[in-house]
Amino acid sequence: MVKLKSVTRSSKLGPEERAAAIAVLKEKELDILVVGGGIVGTGAALDAVTRGLRVGIVEARDWGSGTSSRSSKLVHGGIRYLEQLDFRLVREALQERGLLLQRIAPHLVKPVRFLYPLHKPIFERIYIGAGMILYDLLSYTGGRPPGVPHHRHLSKRQVLRAAPSIANDAMIGGITYYDAQVDDARYVANLARTASFYGAHAASRVRVEGFLKVGERVVGVKAHDLETGERFEIRAKQVVNATGVWTDDTQSMVGERGQFKVRASKGVHLVVPRDRFQSKVGLILRTEKSVLFVIPWGRHWLVGTTDTDWHLDKAHPAATAADIDYILEHVNKVLAVPLTRDDVEGVYAGLRPLLAGESEETSKLSREHLVAHSVPGLVVIAGGKWTTYRIMAKDAVDEAVAALDGKVPASVTQDISLLGAEGYQAAWNKRSKIARAYGVHKVRIEHLLGRYGVMTDELLDIIRADASLQNPLPGADDYIEAEVIYAARHEGALHLDDVLARRTRISIEAWDRGVSAAPVVAALMGRELGWSQERIEAETANYLARVDAERASQLEPDDVSADRVRLSAPEIIVK
Ligand SMILES: Cc1cc2nc3c(=O)[nH]c(=O)nc-3n(C[C@H](O)[C@H](O)[C@H](O)COP(=O)(O)OP(=O)(O)OC[C@H]3O[C@@H](n4cnc5c(N)ncnc54)[C@H](O)[C@@H]3O)c2cc1C
Repeated sequence: MVKLKSVTRSSKLGPEERAAAIAVLKEKELDILVVGGGIVGTGAALDAVTRGLRVGIVEARDWGSGTSSRSSKLVHGGIRYLEQLDFRLVREALQERGLLLQRIAPHLVKPVRFLYPLHKPIFERIYIGAGMILYDLLSYTGGRPPGVPHHRHLSKRQVLRAAPSIANDAMIGGITYYDAQVDDARYVANLARTASFYGAHAASRVRVEGFLKVGERVVGVKAHDLETGERFEIRAKQVVNATGVWTDDTQSMVGERGQFKVRASKGVHLVVPRDRFQSKVGLILRTEKSVLFVIPWGRHWLVGTTDTDWHLDKAHPAATAADIDYILEHVNKVLAVPLTRDDVEGVYAGLRPLLAGESEETSKLSREHLVAHSVPGLVVIAGGKWTTYRIMAKDAVDEAVAALDGKVPASVTQDISLLGAEGYQAAWNKRSKIARAYGVHKVRIEHLLGRYGVMTDELLDIIRADASLQNPLPGADDYIEAEVIYAARHEGALHLDDVLARRTRISIEAWDRGVSAAPVVAALMGRELGWSQERIEAETANYLARVDAERASQLEPDDVSADRVRLSAPEIIVK
């Protein structure tokens, strides 16, 4: 009798699953291979595998370690694009916001309320108010309710009640509206895991270093496993290049001149403690070039961002003293008690992959995406924004499958929830009972549900087996030791940096940027992944060098010196 393989695989994406994926990538010809494990690539892998295709995805570093973990973390329509009359883009993004909030990842995507302070009476209120009405209306166009409340006009008194730390003379009133927010890095790791669950062969730390060609046609890639040093070939009928700001580098490996160019624009955010100023709402502030957001983020605020061209190292974009001063100067225009550098807990920088126009300023370059079948066998997808990743993924896979033989079903990702989403609301409603059953504080359960959804059960099982793993991590007591074990066992974390910077956000949220947590986390990962003492120490030393280099680069006046200082820290260890 033929033994049927199940449709889905393990919900784990640990070292064993990675090894199994690499074994298949070496051996079998795929329908589609995705290169790049940011939000767009992992989205494309899920899209393709849920159409019934044989799919692989490789990521050079960690899942989401490029731009997709360094965004403003907003799932938003982009209210400022209304001013550019880009209604199509805003409508599409608002539809995606509703879908992600209510269907695809309600455990990870949450509503967030913003205040737009008004400075002039009547005209500004009418003008901005009209934009907000349109924003609310467009959010209904997806055929489902928007999932967030409507905008509201506030008097000056009401603004001061909602945001007491706003300077009295900084506004004459305001309007509040809703968008949504997400832990961008966790989402990408979850998406990679969901793609793997549906059968995609997913491997991080596998870099593509060249393409296999037959004549003009791309038939696969030359891959390098950065964990073992092994080089191997992966064959695929279609390759999707989803490498964000690395797109031009990847395209040049195939000798393609490029139908479009992707430019990098640096955006920096500061993380400050929530108690540094009082407000129940986030802020959206106008700057000369664009807007500045102040976004509630757990016990912190995220404040950003900047928008400047970047031509230096793409893997570790560095924030400068000038970037930090620019953000502080702008946010201080509205705060009664100004923020100083001493209030800054964390800093991070990311690179926007922008479709390059010849001479436009980066803040005006299009946030729309492009798909091209630049060479037979190779589809390239670039541009866009985090919020619309699902549409980008669908468009890229549509392009790739058009070249495959036979009829391939249309995208179904509008109906595919991420792992942990199904049953989330019921688990949330039961959170007090779960807390009592496991002897874990309710606040902790709420925190876990917002990070793992219904997979919180798996984490609690780890605690049940070893109660000491309930201990919070040093210097970062929002997180517990069991989360480290879980990240290594289930979530594809291979190095200390993966846990401190992306599975948790300790590297930007903790005052010491994870210095005191590092040795503890390394020891826990070592226990799970079978590291030697030497390896544990090397991982720790590596992380501490990264923190030192980042701190030092943030004292430098300009990009060139900050980049040089940042690159003084060694790259992740290779066995
Ligand atoms: C400061 C900032 C704020 C932003 N805020 C928002 C926001 O609030 N909301 C929003 O919707 N959008 C936002 N964006 C935009 C959004 O973050 C990006 O559009 C999105 O993350 C890009 O995803 P990506 O998958 O294309 O690129 P990436 O996330 O960079 O993924 C590309 C991946 O390819 C991998 N790779 C590269 N070369 C190779 C190779 N040779 N082999 C294998 N892998 C390779 C890289 O390691 C990387 O992980 C923001 C961007 C920035 C910079």
